[in-house]
Amino acid sequence: QDTHKYSGIVEDCCCDYETVDHLNEEVLYPSLQELVKTPFYRYFKVKLWCDCPFWPDDGMCRLRDCSVCECPESEFPESFKKPHHGLSSDDLVCQEGKPEAAVDRTLDSKAFRGWTETDNPWTNDDETDNAEMTYVNLQLNPERYTGYTGPSARRIWDAIYAENCPKYPSEELCQEERILYKLISGLHSSITVHLAADYLLDEATNSWGQNLPLLYDRVLRYPDRVRNLYFTYLFVLRAVTKATDYLEHAEYDTGNPIEDLKTKSLIKQLLYNPKLQAACPLPFDEAKLWKGQSGPELKQKIQKQFRNISALMDCVGCEKCRLWGKLQVLGLGTALKILFSVDGQANLGQTLQLQRNEVIALLNLLNRLSESVKFVHKMGPSAESIMGGQ
Ligand code: FAD
Repeated sequence: QDTHKYSGIVEDCCCDYETVDHLNEEVLYPSLQELVKTPFYRYFKVKLWCDCPFWPDDGMCRLRDCSVCECPESEFPESFKKPHHGLSSDDLVCQEGKPEAAVDRTLDSKAFRGWTETDNPWTNDDETDNAEMTYVNLQLNPERYTGYTGPSARRIWDAIYAENCPKYPSEELCQEERILYKLISGLHSSITVHLAADYLLDEATNSWGQNLPLLYDRVLRYPDRVRNLYFTYLFVLRAVTKATDYLEHAEYDTGNPIEDLKTKSLIKQLLYNPKLQAACPLPFDEAKLWKGQSGPELKQKIQKQFRNISALMDCVGCEKCRLWGKLQVLGLGTALKILFSVDGQANLGQTLQLQRNEVIALLNLLNRLSESVKFVHKMGPSAESIMGGQ
């Protein structure tokens, strides 16, 4: 049974919705879920310190050494700090006061060996000062509802859409600008899907679960937002498959040989899956873009816009949202770098240079998008039937 109403080819891509759902659930989702648990992929290096370049501190930011799952008092439900029913305490307890989850600088000499510090023209790389960086165990900080809402959150999204895509959906936008818009909108959909999938239903009892009305109201009701989610998923998948050679031969040493072997084997399982190659060999065709005389100029303009979006992540007033915002925007920036900063597929292996953090962000982003696509596909019909009549 086709469980949602989308059919045909995902706009600007090369595969259809049904194939994407099938591939995602059969092949990609299971591998990615395993991959992001490996030591290599679960630690993300990030500057969580709020350092907004666009407007003064709005009082939402926390000190840099506060727990990553702690948001401003005004926005963060008290009950978040209590253990989560039904899950192991590791899943919920804040990093604060939890030595094994706190900043772990010892990883630096292990997991980062063999990785370059190359700049990414698509992102705002202000994060070279190691003293300001912390490591976060992503497994202990799942992306979910945090209570971050109101003017602070709205201002970020408004700035992203208004400053970077002022004209959409006007016809005037060229294909490249439309693609940037779709990537942002798809990421926005995915963030909303995650908060709908893991929502604080009752503060008093600290009960968590799905919020299907929210899923419907903020995503499903707008078919474009669903389409943009699928588009973003395929775009990032294409970047991952284009970087196959690089990812296969990258240095995954974290000092744990058994786990590191598993990481390598999961990467191969993901990249060389015959079902993926048969059903959707080219998820997105990047060769169509930046054609014509204005191509290079346009690329510079869009790179600048994306760097602004990347810089805006420092203004996100909830630490955990900032963590996932930064990770996912870095992941998108890495996808853009893989697809557009290196000319021609033939010499990609020689010319592509990625930072360790970029690879972690890229694969974790793909996993987030994969989860969102799966949730929309599985729960979409129930949400539509609950809310459809309204
Ligand atoms: P918002 O989601 O804030 O949307 C603002 C406006 O943007 C909407 O009114 C609509 O006009 C438009 N819009 C909405 N979705 C789309 C779309 N897909 N495509 C195009 N336009 C759209 N909250 C959490 O609980 N957990 C998190 O992890 C989290 N992470 C965040 C990360 C970032 C980077 C940001 C900026 C915010 C994050 N938030 C998070 C807050 C969350 O995204 C919402 O802003 C918040 O829930 C308030 O939602 P809202 O209904 O006001 O609409």
